[in-house]
Amino acid sequence: MVLFPLCKLLAGSVRVTKKQLVLYGMLLSLLLYLLTAGRIRVDTPPVSQSLKAETGIDVSDVRMASEDEEQQQLTQETSWGAPLVWGDSKDSARRRAELSHHNIRTGLLTLAVGPYAHYLRRFLSSAELYFLPGSTVIYYILTDSPRALHPLPQMGPGREVRVIPVAERLGWEHLAQRRMAMLASAIKEQAWQEVEYVFCMDVDQEFVATVGAEILGELVATLHPELYGMPRKAFPYERKPSSLASVGENEGDYYYTSELYGGLCMEVYDMTRRCSQLILQDQEKGVMARGLEESYLNRYLINHWPTCILSPEYSWWESALAFNVPTQRVVSLGRQCVALEPQKRQEQGC
Ligand code: UDP
Ligand code: MN
Repeated sequence: MVLFPLCKLLAGSVRVTKKQLVLYGMLLSLLLYLLTAGRIRVDTPPVSQSLKAETGIDVSDVRMASEDEEQQQLTQETSWGAPLVWGDSKDSARRRAELSHHNIRTGLLTLAVGPYAHYLRRFLSSAELYFLPGSTVIYYILTDSPRALHPLPQMGPGREVRVIPVAERLGWEHLAQRRMAMLASAIKEQAWQEVEYVFCMDVDQEFVATVGAEILGELVATLHPELYGMPRKAFPYERKPSSLASVGENEGDYYYTSELYGGLCMEVYDMTRRCSQLILQDQEKGVMARGLEESYLNRYLINHWPTCILSPEYSWWESALAFNVPTQRVVSLGRQCVALEPQKRQEQGC
């Protein structure tokens, strides 16, 4: 809309002052800067808005009504018998104790391209404090800015960083289409040879409490904090039948976040490769699911039940809708920014 008078100007039908010309020039430069820096992202609308529009459900009401009940009884197991993990539960303590005698090697895989490179050091230093403390961990960092890692945070014994250089076109939407393929190839080319388990995480996150061996499983997915405990019809699955991520009305027990998932290398490789194929096939038809790769991930996990489900403690952000978890363990700084009021965004340096 802002550019409309400029179009008329080019057509030669309108006279503009010098001041207007300068203003339009500045606006155009700003727009170009934002586009090339990859900062314009196609946001899916906040969960609450789309839900209310589509289903008439007011998420805040459901959250308030169900919170007391859930707080008293945190679900411990899924209907198919997989553990639903809360870090402070007895089961988690037992798992940590059992696995402490095994020398398990785990990879932590993340992508930091373009403007996201600045998250790297905070991500890594917090992982050194809280991610599988005392275990062998290799960080696989796919990045176009290896320098952003320096100076490298102090690494504990048995912990290393591997930089995997990537040269990707910038832009949030482009990366959303490529991410799963990039992760799959990093697992196949590198992680597979070196570690047993691999976890994929968004880099715009910070560990704030211990994430221990209780998270290890064959196929691990994490519950979305704003949708935990919500009725199925509230889940923002892709519904367009034209998309390969499409989910029918009677399908799906949980809504998972794409911020953190993992498992045995083979399982995570199969999942990321399959999702990237579906994304590519949809892309060829000019279709993209509403939650981008999160939709394909949810589709895949309906067909392949995870063997271990992490509670929203492992992917949490402050939002009016987020489930009030007993302990926050991983916080998504990026999603938190999107959920905050404009004034709070500034305070938090978003
Ligand atoms: N990412 C990146 N550069 C970009 C956009 C995304 O490296 O320009 C990576 C980064 O790891 C980021 C992840 O892709 O955390 C997912 O993007 P984002 O966190 O913006 O998505 P959301 O959590 O909002 O779905
Ligand atoms: Mn993120």
